[in-house]
Amino acid sequence: MMLKVNVRHLAEHGLHLRGELPVAELDLGIDDELVRVEKPLAYDLAVELLHDAVLVTGSLTLPLDCECARCLKKFTTNLHLAGWALHLPLQGEDAVSVDNDCVDLTPFIREDILLDFPQRPLCRLDCGGLKDKTARKAKVVEKPAPDLWAKLDKLKLK
Ligand SMILES: [Zn+2]
Repeated sequence: MMLKVNVRHLAEHGLHLRGELPVAELDLGIDDELVRVEKPLAYDLAVELLHDAVLVTGSLTLPLDCECARCLKKFTTNLHLAGWALHLPLQGEDAVSVDNDCVDLTPFIREDILLDFPQRPLCRLDCGGLKDKTARKAKVVEKPAPDLWAKLDKLKLK
């Protein structure tokens, strides 16, 4: 059930992978109170064999069940990697390990998901949080009195 690509099959024609990877396989190793990963990762990937590498391009979408770090409201969001690209060399020092003609994409997906994983989820960017008085006060913008503006205008004319 891992996300594997058979390199031998690739040599004949490109491949289109589309499906879901169970959370258990993704094995993010994340124990975050604010972000829960319970739904499978959806992938939609094109795989092709280049001269001496495998090229994978496409999108990855991981639904997240979050709790806002400021107001504790529960919300869902997607970690979405739209233009994801992976270049896997088959030769040389950085060559990817090929097992029974297969390359496992899972570790690379895991790595990139973790890089993009939200550290401090917010229900909205401007979430005001729980009844936080200091946050509310900051929103009140004090306008100068009209006569002050008039004085300033006169100063500019001098
Ligand atoms: Zn919030």
